[in-house]
Amino acid sequence: LFLPERVNSKGFDLRDVPTLEEMDAARDPWRTASWAAAPIIAGEAQPETPEPVTNPYLDTDSPGSVAHASPGDVQTALDAARPWQAPAGDRAAVLNKVADLYEENFGPLFAIIAREAGKTPLDAVAELREAVDFLRYYAANAPDAPPAGVFSCISPWNFPLAIFTGQVSAALAAGNAVLAKPADQTPLIAHEAVKLMHEAGVPREALQFLPGAGSVVGAAITSDPRVNGVAFTGSTATAQRIRTAMAENLTPGAPLIAETGGINAMIVDSTALPEQAVQAIVESAFQSAGQRCSALRCLYVQEDIVGDFLDMLTGAMKELRLGDPWHVSTDAGPVIDSAAQSEIAAHIAQAQADGRVIYQTSTPQTGSFIAPTLIRVGGIEDLDKEIFGPVLHVATFRAEELDTVIDTINGTGYGLTFGLQTRIDDRVQHVADRIHAGNIYVNRNQIGAIVGSQPFGGEGLSGTGPKAGGPHYLARFTAPERKGASG
Ligand code: NAP
Repeated sequence: LFLPERVNSKGFDLRDVPTLEEMDAARDPWRTASWAAAPIIAGEAQPETPEPVTNPYLDTDSPGSVAHASPGDVQTALDAARPWQAPAGDRAAVLNKVADLYEENFGPLFAIIAREAGKTPLDAVAELREAVDFLRYYAANAPDAPPAGVFSCISPWNFPLAIFTGQVSAALAAGNAVLAKPADQTPLIAHEAVKLMHEAGVPREALQFLPGAGSVVGAAITSDPRVNGVAFTGSTATAQRIRTAMAENLTPGAPLIAETGGINAMIVDSTALPEQAVQAIVESAFQSAGQRCSALRCLYVQEDIVGDFLDMLTGAMKELRLGDPWHVSTDAGPVIDSAAQSEIAAHIAQAQADGRVIYQTSTPQTGSFIAPTLIRVGGIEDLDKEIFGPVLHVATFRAEELDTVIDTINGTGYGLTFGLQTRIDDRVQHVADRIHAGNIYVNRNQIGAIVGSQPFGGEGLSGTGPKAGGPHYLARFTAPERKGASG
């Protein structure tokens, strides 16, 4: 049996007491620290007045401030942007050094991610591992082909280190000049990341940092003809806006790599192992407070087992600990901000008014929490949008309806993740052959992916491809005319 050399980051085992002590010792000095994010451009920045960054768990804590890039800063950055001329091997060496610096600096990185994004230690470990894996994987595969030129990288708040790093490191590995815009809620972790990239040796002209609102900075760096490509991760609606802006202003054929939302389903049939399925569902729907693009939104349970199954599921939900994301014992923190909280709460309130709430846990009194909630639906077609929080919709199906359920799930037009719980081997192949989803998970949770061995990305309304962390991703960051030649 041939197994490839393991290249993924080993991360932290949070069940191991000495590891926990090491983590706490590295994080604790940063518990009340304050960071200041600001544009980093190859020229003099003249940003807007700094604004406080909020902690979604604690109103009284501000982890720091952010000064948005002004429209003038964006122009200065566009003028100064120069592709990274170094040979692929040299760029790779610098990106590997960035990975080392990330690992050395895990204390402040974990602290920022807890206080700015409400991430638990478990989430923070996953985030750092993925970021490090992206850096090393793209370094190992840095192409010799000419770069596209100037690439805008626009990321969401829900993986503020991993996705930010993945986009930027891929564009840099291919030798592009990068304009990096983080999400408005999470500029501090991205600012630290860019500082570490510059410290490792990425030239300033090749990586500039432009915090600011999507409607201002994001719009500017996706509609300027000096930009040659865009890597975007976020909602499907924003991706559609960016596609239009690019079509109107950029050179025809400029690549848009968009990884977007999903309304992800799981099917549990009557042969599934209930204990395994319940654990997988709780992790898929409620870990990270349901704020993963891969999270489970609509569960189909076979009618024959639904009563006992929901009893087990609600029993498991009762055990979930919501609270301060700083603590390792916390299962889920708050949602990202009060705007997200209000939007999700309105969805739940409507279900309550309709008498469709099956079960809801309780929440802490402070912070933008949403109690994990189960809502009855007729099917996935009842969901007209992605609800980005700890809300799970439940439908039932009869054995003979399996193919109809698959068609209905495909009918949403989204295709990000899909989960199946069954002990019928033939059924696994039958369903996998028919379902339209980028990543299919069988008899396990449906969140997470492993750079290099399980690339991640959706189809249809969920993304353009190619998958992040996979062998085809970097080619999209190289000059278009070379693509045919390189196959
Ligand atoms: P979002 O509102 O679409 O924002 C994503 C990024 O786009 C942010 O940096 C945002 O800036 C920026 N933006 C907004 N309007 C823009 C415009 N007109 N032009 C250019 N940029 C603009 O998404 P989000 O709420 O941050 O993230 C959650 C969404 O991301 C969910 O739908 C989730 O499913 C999806 N997601 C997908 C994946 C995947 O791999 N498929 C992974 C993670 C998340 P501001 O922050 O200033 O608004």
